[in-house]
Amino acid sequence: MKILVINAGSSSIKYQLMDLEDAHNYTVLASGLVEKIGESTGRVIHRKNMSAVEEKVVEEAPIPDHRKGMARVVALLTDPVKGVISDAREIEGVGHRVLSCGEVYSDTVRVTPEVKASIRDFFPLGPLHNPPNLVGIEVAEELFPHAPQVAVFDTAFHQTMPRKAYLYAVPYEWYKDYRLRRYGFHGTSHKYIAQETANYLGKPLDQTNLISLHLGNGCSMSAIRNGKCVDTSMGVTPLEGLVMGTRSGDIDPAALQYIMGQTGMDIQQMTDALNKKSGLKGLCGGNDMREVVEAAANGSNRAQTALDIFAYRIQKYIGAYMAVLPRVDALTFTAGIGENSAPAREHICRGLEHLGIRLDLEKNNSPSRQPREIQQDGAPLKLLILPTNEELQIALETKDIILSTPT
Ligand code: AMP
Repeated sequence: MKILVINAGSSSIKYQLMDLEDAHNYTVLASGLVEKIGESTGRVIHRKNMSAVEEKVVEEAPIPDHRKGMARVVALLTDPVKGVISDAREIEGVGHRVLSCGEVYSDTVRVTPEVKASIRDFFPLGPLHNPPNLVGIEVAEELFPHAPQVAVFDTAFHQTMPRKAYLYAVPYEWYKDYRLRRYGFHGTSHKYIAQETANYLGKPLDQTNLISLHLGNGCSMSAIRNGKCVDTSMGVTPLEGLVMGTRSGDIDPAALQYIMGQTGMDIQQMTDALNKKSGLKGLCGGNDMREVVEAAANGSNRAQTALDIFAYRIQKYIGAYMAVLPRVDALTFTAGIGENSAPAREHICRGLEHLGIRLDLEKNNSPSRQPREIQQDGAPLKLLILPTNEELQIALETKDIILSTPT
């Protein structure tokens, strides 16, 4: 079944066209990125993956809106030379990454007018993502009128959290009247990693306990019990929790008023600073883990401190989630840093031997893109590196929904 996966951002559209049977039998036919939508110069990077050698096309031209951007994607996918299909009707379903639908949907759904209304209803809680996500759906409905549209929510996997994990200790009306609570994000990745961890361990998902560490530009962790999320580090927005590339993660809320008083910043400037100028970037100037590790190795105290704080925050969450779970079968690293940065993993694991976390330095340092384990022989806790694949998870769920809910 040919499924198009779309992740529409405020000025970009990421896409991947897959032909898939199941999680282990699939082909990425083409993928790409439309960026700088609405700016004076736009760009489309399109990759055709049909032959052994990947073919890449880069187009530079203004792209006034998402509709024009998606129309370019359709033109490229169906182009006789650059394309991979002869007609847009070959696409049997479109899966959309959608940030949040709060408590309304705890699973993937086929898009209906009610689903779109719910996505709109959550604009205030996902102001940067939900509006472009909805535009992506509306444009795809126009361009692929024959294909079912499916919404895969980043928050859905975390809906199994108990109240004690998702409620904040603030006036209860804020939850009842304004829906303020922990929702968590990266849910598609954590869900995929839970299943992959179970597969790797050869256990049924509903008997697998793990702590998943999604460490990329955005970072989050989840405590997963019997395959279900029981806690996660991101909150009502993706700002809470771990130290990230440019996001602060946890901070005393009273600090905001203090710094705003000292500097004259308004709330918008403060929100901007916490999202875009904090984290690794705020601490040492660089938000790319490779640069931070290199600068620390070259003697930069600021970079070393940033690395220490990044790892220490994760260690605290590992401790918390080990307390939450009655048994931990594996701690699974994934995403850009989790999969690739041996120094970051070493820093995170160092000093946690009393918790059964015993990293094998040689295994940790051997570069590989394969799923693998990196704990010492005989260590009580498995340490896994499993590549995440959110597009595949979205495509799989889209296919399942289409097959299980025919129109
Ligand atoms: P993501 O958001 O998953 O793409 O991850 C981005 C983060 O992964 C950045 O901090 C990168 O520095 C880091 N990263 C990506 N590739 C590598 C690599 N080969 N070695 C170390 N860090 C990497």
